[in-house]
Amino acid sequence: MKKVYLETFGCQMNVSDSERILTQLESGGYQITDDETQADVVLLNTCSVREKAEHKLYTRIGQIRKTQTNKNSVLGILGCVAQLEGETLFKKSPAIDFVLGTKAVGRVANAIETAFNGNRNFVDLSDREADYDWSVAASQRHSPFVGFIPIIEGCNKFCTYCIVPFSRGREKSIPASEIIRQILILREQGIKEIHLLGQNVNSYRPINDSSLANFKGATAFSKLLRAVAATGMERVKFTTSFPRDFHPDIVDAINENENLCDWVHLPVQSGSNRILKAMRRGHTIENYLERIDKIKKSERKISITTDIIIGFPNESLQDFRDTVKMFEYCQFAGAYIFKYSPRPGTPAFNMIDNVSAEEKNERFLELEKVQRFTQQKIFQSYLNRSVEVLAEKISVKRSGQLSGHTTCQKVVNFPGAKDLLGKIVSVEILESKSNTLYGEISSRKQ
Ligand code: SAM
Ligand code: SF4
Repeated sequence: MKKVYLETFGCQMNVSDSERILTQLESGGYQITDDETQADVVLLNTCSVREKAEHKLYTRIGQIRKTQTNKNSVLGILGCVAQLEGETLFKKSPAIDFVLGTKAVGRVANAIETAFNGNRNFVDLSDREADYDWSVAASQRHSPFVGFIPIIEGCNKFCTYCIVPFSRGREKSIPASEIIRQILILREQGIKEIHLLGQNVNSYRPINDSSLANFKGATAFSKLLRAVAATGMERVKFTTSFPRDFHPDIVDAINENENLCDWVHLPVQSGSNRILKAMRRGHTIENYLERIDKIKKSERKISITTDIIIGFPNESLQDFRDTVKMFEYCQFAGAYIFKYSPRPGTPAFNMIDNVSAEEKNERFLELEKVQRFTQQKIFQSYLNRSVEVLAEKISVKRSGQLSGHTTCQKVVNFPGAKDLLGKIVSVEILESKSNTLYGEISSRKQ
């Protein structure tokens, strides 16, 4: 039996693709291994969102090739870098045997066989099969208790800095009936929490939404949220939301359904209208704050997190000050702060990257400090309160402790035995750090 080792870089969508790739290979008779040195097939599922992620890939190829004992093994590059670079990858690294684009992952077994049959420069960047199977075997899920479900692929937004519309193609929504079918299977298998995934979930627009006809909602996405809530899945989260398409009815749907979790990830990218326009985000800071105010006025206490890019071309000190001001207003429970990374092929790549590395660094550190202060305050507000936590895994940092998430997506560690894994427990918070809460079980909920 041939052994396959797969490593995943980047976002949750890549993690989800990897789950399906492994499902398919396992059912095709391959053995999945964690040991790269012994593998007959090495697959790297890549990310191209920032330059650093791409560089990491070439470093990993070198490391893997050095440690492998099986010199007849084959190496395949999958995912976003594969889609963008295609056959030029063979020139960049002669160790690569085949390249499989983001929509070609359903044909991974064919690519592997082709490479073993001696064709060592195989490329498949074609479209997804009409009957592509979106299911994931229980054995190949990244977590036995949390399931990822793509609801929309690709992106039509073309924000000027972003490579995703090129690496993932145009938006295509998965039929609601297929999404619901998968959720019902996951429920039966004991999954307690699902994440509906997409670059922009709010753009969800299936060709035929007849299976959503019985659900109210101002948009197909808010109808889908209500339909998913009706499956009875314990917890439902969704990511990523796009400010322009974030309809207030999403907040209403959350208020109406306890199992729709109290967390919204709403990337803003900048606090300056001038920069938002240059980024072609399609929202102003005023529109964004309206969304934030609606979420904050919700009957439920909904956590808001965001993404931000520091040092976009022509970002002045005043633009950056506007970003800091906006952060102080929004009081985000979490923020991914990125330094702008020019991506070849995007419109922003042709703009002059004129914010120096030093300035980017200074602004990054300042915003990080502002965010850390806010986060500490928010996390401390949980002290001596009880929160519901899904016990997901054994903590790697503190022995004898379990680790999981609240419905508002905070990480909580607490002492507990292994048999609690997969259970939702009430934890009283006794200690808070800037990214993690610590506590003790107060009572158990099945
Ligand atoms: N679709 C989501 C959205 O619209 O916000 C996010 C997609 S992207 C994979 C995740 C994050 O990476 C973005 O929110 C953005 O902050 C960041 N990002 C994308 N392109 C970038 C670039 N060229 N340089 C730095 N950060 C970037
Ligand atoms: Fe990229 Fe913008 Fe699409 Fe998000 S919405 S994936 S940032 S182009």
